[in-house]
Amino acid sequence: MEAQPLISRLALSLIRAPCYNLDTMADRSMSDELSEDTVSRALTTEWLGRPYLYTAAIDSTNDRLKRMAADPAVASGTVLLADYQSSGRGRMQRRWEAPPGTSLLFSVLLRPGWLARQATWLTMLAGMAVAESIESVTGLLTRLKWPNDVVIAHEAGIDHDIQWRKVCGLLLDVALAPDGRVESAILGVGLNVNIAKDALPDASTPPTSLLIAVGRPISRLPLLVDLLGRLEYHYQAAMSVRSPAVAWAERLVTIGQAVQVTAVGSAEVLNGIAESVDEWGQLLVRDESGALHAIAAGDVTLRRH
Ligand code: ATP
Repeated sequence: MEAQPLISRLALSLIRAPCYNLDTMADRSMSDELSEDTVSRALTTEWLGRPYLYTAAIDSTNDRLKRMAADPAVASGTVLLADYQSSGRGRMQRRWEAPPGTSLLFSVLLRPGWLARQATWLTMLAGMAVAESIESVTGLLTRLKWPNDVVIAHEAGIDHDIQWRKVCGLLLDVALAPDGRVESAILGVGLNVNIAKDALPDASTPPTSLLIAVGRPISRLPLLVDLLGRLEYHYQAAMSVRSPAVAWAERLVTIGQAVQVTAVGSAEVLNGIAESVDEWGQLLVRDESGALHAIAAGDVTLRRH
Protein backbone atom coordinates (compact mmCIF):
# COMPACT_ATOMS: atom_id res chain seq x y z
CA MET A 1 0.00 0.00 0.00
CA GLU A 2 1.15 3.54 -0.80
CA ALA A 3 0.39 4.71 2.73
CA GLN A 4 2.87 2.43 4.50
CA PRO A 5 6.15 4.27 3.78
CA LEU A 6 4.46 7.54 4.68
CA ILE A 7 3.28 6.16 8.01
CA SER A 8 6.76 4.79 8.74
CA ARG A 9 8.31 8.18 8.05
CA LEU A 10 5.80 9.84 10.34
CA ALA A 11 6.47 7.27 13.03
CA LEU A 12 10.20 7.90 12.79
CA SER A 13 9.78 11.64 13.09
CA LEU A 14 7.60 11.11 16.14
CA ILE A 15 10.24 9.02 17.87
CA ARG A 16 12.64 11.98 17.69
CA ALA A 17 10.69 13.60 20.50
CA PRO A 18 11.83 16.08 23.17
CA CYS A 19 13.71 14.72 26.21
CA TYR A 20 12.27 14.45 29.67
CA ASN A 21 13.71 13.58 33.03
CA LEU A 22 14.05 9.80 33.31
CA ASP A 23 14.34 10.07 37.11
CA THR A 24 10.64 10.82 37.26
CA MET A 25 10.06 7.39 35.69
CA ALA A 26 12.11 5.52 38.30
CA ASP A 27 9.16 3.61 39.74
CA ARG A 28 7.70 2.67 36.39
CA SER A 29 7.70 -1.01 35.63
CA MET A 30 9.98 -1.48 32.62
CA SER A 31 7.80 -4.32 31.35
CA ASP A 32 4.96 -1.86 30.97
CA GLU A 33 6.12 -0.64 27.59
CA LEU A 34 3.72 0.29 24.83
CA SER A 35 6.05 0.18 21.85
CA GLU A 36 4.77 -0.21 18.30
CA ASP A 37 5.88 -3.86 18.11
CA THR A 38 4.43 -4.87 21.46
CA VAL A 39 1.06 -3.21 20.98
CA SER A 40 0.65 -4.10 17.31
CA ARG A 41 1.23 -7.79 18.11
CA ALA A 42 -1.22 -7.74 21.04
CA LEU A 43 -4.06 -5.86 19.32
CA THR A 44 -7.23 -7.80 18.61
CA THR A 45 -8.78 -5.17 16.33
CA GLU A 46 -9.34 -5.41 12.59
CA TRP A 47 -8.48 -1.84 11.63
CA LEU A 48 -8.42 0.42 14.68
CA GLY A 49 -4.85 0.94 15.86
CA ARG A 50 -3.54 -0.16 12.48
CA PRO A 51 -1.26 1.62 12.28
CA TYR A 52 -0.40 2.16 15.92
CA LEU A 53 2.26 4.83 16.44
CA TYR A 54 4.22 5.31 19.67
CA THR A 55 6.40 8.12 20.91
CA ALA A 56 8.06 8.60 24.29
CA ALA A 57 7.19 12.29 24.50
CA ILE A 58 5.24 14.79 22.46
CA ASP A 59 3.54 18.18 22.81
CA SER A 60 -0.02 16.85 22.41
CA THR A 61 -1.16 13.65 20.69
CA ASN A 62 -4.35 15.40 19.51
CA ASP A 63 -2.45 18.31 17.98
CA ARG A 64 0.05 16.05 16.22
CA LEU A 65 -2.55 13.66 14.88
CA LYS A 66 -4.69 16.58 13.73
CA ARG A 67 -1.79 17.83 11.60
CA MET A 68 -1.20 14.34 10.24
CA ALA A 69 -4.91 13.93 9.42
CA ALA A 70 -4.70 16.75 6.88
CA ASP A 71 -3.09 14.12 4.64
CA PRO A 72 -5.92 11.90 3.34
CA ALA A 73 -3.47 8.99 3.07
CA VAL A 74 -3.36 8.76 6.87
CA ALA A 75 -5.99 6.14 7.55
CA SER A 76 -9.05 6.20 9.75
CA GLY A 77 -8.16 4.15 12.81
CA THR A 78 -4.60 5.47 13.15
CA VAL A 79 -3.66 5.64 16.84
CA LEU A 80 -0.90 7.82 18.24
CA LEU A 81 0.15 7.15 21.84
CA ALA A 82 2.70 9.05 23.94
CA ASP A 83 4.16 8.24 27.33
CA TYR A 84 4.34 11.94 28.09
CA GLN A 85 2.65 15.10 26.78
CA SER A 86 4.33 18.45 27.45
CA SER A 87 1.20 20.38 26.36
CA GLY A 88 -1.61 17.90 26.95
CA ARG A 89 -4.99 19.56 26.54
CA GLY A 90 -8.50 19.18 27.83
CA ARG A 91 -11.51 21.13 26.56
CA MET A 92 -11.20 24.88 26.08
CA GLN A 93 -7.39 24.76 26.10
CA ARG A 94 -7.32 23.53 29.70
CA ARG A 95 -4.19 21.59 30.60
CA TRP A 96 -4.08 17.81 30.93
CA GLU A 97 -1.30 16.75 33.25
CA ALA A 98 0.23 13.32 33.79
CA PRO A 99 3.74 12.25 34.82
CA PRO A 100 5.63 10.16 32.19
CA GLY A 101 4.69 6.51 31.87
CA THR A 102 1.76 6.63 34.29
CA SER A 103 -1.21 6.92 31.97
CA LEU A 104 -2.79 5.97 28.69
CA LEU A 105 -2.43 9.13 26.61
CA PHE A 106 -3.47 8.58 23.02
CA SER A 107 -5.48 9.91 20.12
CA VAL A 108 -7.43 8.09 17.45
CA LEU A 109 -8.09 9.42 13.95
CA LEU A 110 -11.58 8.61 12.68
CA ARG A 111 -13.20 9.56 9.40
CA PRO A 112 -16.89 8.71 9.84
CA GLY A 113 -18.20 11.14 7.19
CA TRP A 114 -21.13 12.01 9.46
CA LEU A 115 -22.94 15.33 9.60
CA ALA A 116 -21.30 17.64 12.14
CA ARG A 117 -23.80 17.25 14.96
CA GLN A 118 -23.40 13.48 14.96
CA ALA A 119 -19.72 13.88 15.90
CA THR A 120 -20.77 13.94 19.56
CA TRP A 121 -21.49 10.23 19.16
CA LEU A 122 -17.71 9.73 19.14
CA THR A 123 -17.35 11.12 22.66
CA MET A 124 -20.26 8.93 23.74
CA LEU A 125 -18.90 5.70 22.34
CA ALA A 126 -15.39 6.45 23.61
CA GLY A 127 -16.78 7.05 27.10
CA MET A 128 -18.57 3.71 26.99
CA ALA A 129 -15.48 1.90 25.71
CA VAL A 130 -13.30 3.38 28.48
CA ALA A 131 -15.89 2.64 31.18
CA GLU A 132 -16.38 -0.97 30.06
CA SER A 133 -12.62 -1.53 29.86
CA ILE A 134 -12.01 -0.21 33.35
CA GLU A 135 -14.80 -2.43 34.68
CA SER A 136 -13.53 -5.46 32.81
CA VAL A 137 -9.86 -5.06 33.82
CA THR A 138 -10.29 -3.80 37.40
CA GLY A 139 -13.89 -4.55 38.45
CA LEU A 140 -14.35 -0.93 39.54
CA LEU A 141 -17.79 0.65 39.29
CA THR A 142 -17.47 3.13 36.42
CA ARG A 143 -19.77 5.88 35.19
CA LEU A 144 -19.69 8.97 32.95
CA LYS A 145 -19.95 12.63 33.87
CA TRP A 146 -21.46 14.84 31.19
CA PRO A 147 -20.08 15.66 28.74
CA ASN A 148 -16.63 14.09 28.50
CA ASP A 149 -15.37 12.56 31.75
CA VAL A 150 -15.14 8.99 32.96
CA VAL A 151 -15.51 8.67 36.72
CA ILE A 152 -15.08 5.85 39.22
CA ALA A 153 -16.72 5.28 42.57
CA HIS A 154 -14.44 6.60 45.28
CA GLU A 155 -15.93 5.73 48.65
CA ALA A 156 -19.20 5.97 50.53
CA GLY A 157 -19.52 9.30 52.37
CA ILE A 158 -21.01 9.67 55.84
CA ASP A 159 -24.48 9.52 54.26
CA HIS A 160 -23.39 6.54 52.13
CA ASP A 161 -23.45 8.57 48.93
CA ILE A 162 -21.11 7.32 46.25
CA GLN A 163 -18.51 9.95 45.43
CA TRP A 164 -17.41 10.01 41.81
CA ARG A 165 -13.83 10.88 40.89
CA LYS A 166 -12.49 11.61 37.46
CA VAL A 167 -10.17 8.96 36.08
CA CYS A 168 -10.28 9.87 32.39
CA GLY A 169 -10.93 12.88 30.19
CA LEU A 170 -11.95 12.70 26.52
CA LEU A 171 -11.21 15.39 23.98
CA LEU A 172 -12.80 15.55 20.52
CA ASP A 173 -11.35 17.76 17.76
CA VAL A 174 -13.35 17.78 14.55
CA ALA A 175 -12.44 19.09 11.08
CA LEU A 176 -15.38 19.64 8.72
CA ALA A 177 -15.40 19.27 4.94
CA PRO A 178 -16.94 22.10 2.85
CA ASP A 179 -20.23 20.15 2.71
CA GLY A 180 -20.47 20.24 6.52
CA ARG A 181 -19.60 16.60 7.02
CA VAL A 182 -16.91 15.37 9.40
CA GLU A 183 -13.73 15.08 7.36
CA SER A 184 -11.64 13.95 10.30
CA ALA A 185 -12.19 13.59 14.00
CA ILE A 186 -9.43 13.25 16.54
CA LEU A 187 -10.53 11.53 19.69
CA GLY A 188 -8.12 12.08 22.57
CA VAL A 189 -8.05 9.86 25.65
CA GLY A 190 -6.22 10.68 28.88
CA LEU A 191 -6.67 7.81 31.34
CA ASN A 192 -5.03 7.96 34.77
CA VAL A 193 -3.70 4.45 35.24
CA ASN A 194 -0.75 4.52 37.66
CA ILE A 195 -0.63 8.14 38.85
CA ALA A 196 0.20 8.33 42.56
CA LYS A 197 -2.04 10.46 44.77
CA ASP A 198 0.51 13.24 45.30
CA ALA A 199 1.14 13.51 41.54
CA LEU A 200 -2.49 14.22 40.62
CA PRO A 201 -3.25 17.81 39.59
CA ASP A 202 -5.57 20.17 41.47
CA ALA A 203 -8.80 20.06 39.51
CA SER A 204 -12.39 21.22 39.91
CA THR A 205 -13.65 17.66 39.47
CA PRO A 206 -11.65 15.60 42.00
CA PRO A 207 -9.23 13.33 40.10
CA THR A 208 -8.12 9.81 40.87
CA SER A 209 -6.30 6.93 39.18
CA LEU A 210 -6.78 3.20 38.84
CA LEU A 211 -3.70 2.71 41.03
CA ILE A 212 -5.35 4.65 43.85
CA ALA A 213 -8.72 2.96 43.44
CA VAL A 214 -7.43 -0.60 43.16
CA GLY A 215 -4.46 -0.23 45.49
CA ARG A 216 -1.89 -1.70 43.12
CA PRO A 217 -0.36 -0.79 39.74
CA ILE A 218 -2.36 -1.81 36.68
CA SER A 219 -0.56 -3.08 33.59
CA ARG A 220 -1.30 -0.67 30.77
CA LEU A 221 -0.91 -3.05 27.82
CA PRO A 222 -3.95 -5.32 28.46
CA LEU A 223 -6.01 -2.26 29.32
CA LEU A 224 -5.04 -0.52 26.08
CA VAL A 225 -5.70 -3.62 23.98
CA ASP A 226 -9.11 -4.15 25.59
CA LEU A 227 -10.01 -0.49 25.20
CA LEU A 228 -9.10 -0.26 21.51
CA GLY A 229 -11.11 -3.43 20.84
CA ARG A 230 -14.19 -1.96 22.50
CA LEU A 231 -13.71 1.35 20.71
CA GLU A 232 -13.68 -0.42 17.36
CA TYR A 233 -16.81 -2.39 18.31
CA HIS A 234 -18.79 0.67 19.42
CA TYR A 235 -17.65 2.75 16.45
CA GLN A 236 -18.74 0.07 14.01
CA ALA A 237 -22.11 -0.16 15.73
CA ALA A 238 -22.53 3.62 15.39
CA MET A 239 -21.48 3.44 11.73
CA SER A 240 -24.39 1.05 11.19
CA VAL A 241 -26.55 3.89 12.49
CA ARG A 242 -27.04 2.34 15.90
CA SER A 243 -27.06 5.40 18.15
CA PRO A 244 -24.95 5.12 21.32
CA ALA A 245 -27.07 7.81 23.06
CA VAL A 246 -29.33 5.54 25.15
CA ALA A 247 -26.56 3.28 26.50
CA TRP A 248 -24.39 6.36 27.11
CA ALA A 249 -27.17 8.14 29.02
CA GLU A 250 -27.64 5.10 31.27
CA ARG A 251 -24.09 5.54 32.54
CA LEU A 252 -24.31 9.28 33.20
CA VAL A 253 -24.09 10.19 36.89
CA THR A 254 -25.35 13.64 35.94
CA ILE A 255 -28.94 12.58 35.14
CA GLY A 256 -31.47 13.21 37.90
CA GLN A 257 -29.03 15.42 39.80
CA ALA A 258 -29.30 19.03 40.88
CA VAL A 259 -26.69 20.79 38.77
CA GLN A 260 -25.12 24.16 38.24
CA VAL A 261 -24.30 24.72 34.58
CA THR A 262 -22.22 27.36 32.85
CA ALA A 263 -22.67 27.02 29.10
CA VAL A 264 -19.63 27.66 26.90
CA GLY A 265 -19.51 31.28 25.79
CA SER A 266 -21.94 32.40 28.49
CA ALA A 267 -21.32 34.05 31.85
CA GLU A 268 -24.76 33.01 33.09
CA VAL A 269 -25.07 30.27 35.66
CA LEU A 270 -28.06 27.96 35.37
CA ASN A 271 -29.35 26.02 38.38
CA GLY A 272 -31.72 23.15 37.82
CA ILE A 273 -32.23 19.42 37.56
CA ALA A 274 -30.45 17.52 34.78
CA GLU A 275 -33.44 15.59 33.40
CA SER A 276 -31.96 13.77 30.44
CA VAL A 277 -29.84 14.04 27.31
CA ASP A 278 -30.96 14.13 23.71
CA GLU A 279 -29.80 12.10 20.71
CA TRP A 280 -26.90 14.51 20.13
CA GLY A 281 -25.65 14.54 23.71
CA GLN A 282 -27.13 17.87 24.76
CA LEU A 283 -27.92 18.03 28.48
CA LEU A 284 -31.56 18.92 29.17
CA VAL A 285 -31.81 20.94 32.38
CA ARG A 286 -35.11 22.05 33.97
CA ASP A 287 -34.70 25.31 35.88
CA GLU A 288 -36.62 26.40 38.96
CA SER A 289 -39.30 28.14 36.85
CA GLY A 290 -39.98 24.91 34.95
CA ALA A 291 -38.26 25.94 31.68
CA LEU A 292 -36.17 23.32 29.90
CA HIS A 293 -32.71 24.29 28.60
CA ALA A 294 -30.63 22.27 26.11
CA ILE A 295 -26.91 22.67 26.85
CA ALA A 296 -24.56 21.62 24.05
CA ALA A 297 -21.28 22.33 25.83
CA GLY A 298 -20.53 23.63 29.27
CA ASP A 299 -19.26 23.05 32.78
CA VAL A 300 -21.46 21.12 35.14
CA THR A 301 -21.13 20.92 38.90
CA LEU A 302 -23.27 18.44 40.79
CA ARG A 303 -25.10 20.24 43.63
CA ARG A 304 -26.52 18.79 46.80
CA HIS A 305 -30.33 18.69 46.70
P1 ATP B 1 -14.24 19.00 34.51
O1 ATP B 1 -13.26 17.91 34.74
O2 ATP B 1 -14.35 19.90 35.70
O3 ATP B 1 -15.58 18.50 34.02
P2 ATP B 1 -13.46 19.54 31.80
O4 ATP B 1 -14.40 18.47 31.39
O5 ATP B 1 -13.52 20.81 31.06
O6 ATP B 1 -13.64 19.90 33.35
P3 ATP B 1 -11.28 18.24 30.63
O7 ATP B 1 -11.45 18.92 29.34
O8 ATP B 1 -11.66 16.79 30.67
O9 ATP B 1 -12.00 18.98 31.78
O10 ATP B 1 -9.77 18.32 31.13
C1 ATP B 1 -9.14 19.50 31.60
C2 ATP B 1 -9.25 19.64 33.10
O11 ATP B 1 -9.05 18.38 33.75
C3 ATP B 1 -8.18 20.55 33.69
O12 ATP B 1 -8.63 21.87 33.75
C4 ATP B 1 -7.92 19.98 35.08
O13 ATP B 1 -8.81 20.56 36.00
C5 ATP B 1 -8.30 18.53 34.93
N1 ATP B 1 -7.13 17.63 34.82
C6 ATP B 1 -5.92 17.84 34.25
N2 ATP B 1 -5.17 16.74 34.28
C7 ATP B 1 -5.93 15.78 34.87
C8 ATP B 1 -5.73 14.41 35.20
N3 ATP B 1 -4.60 13.78 34.93
N4 ATP B 1 -6.74 13.76 35.82
C9 ATP B 1 -7.92 14.35 36.11
N5 ATP B 1 -8.18 15.65 35.84
C10 ATP B 1 -7.19 16.35 35.22
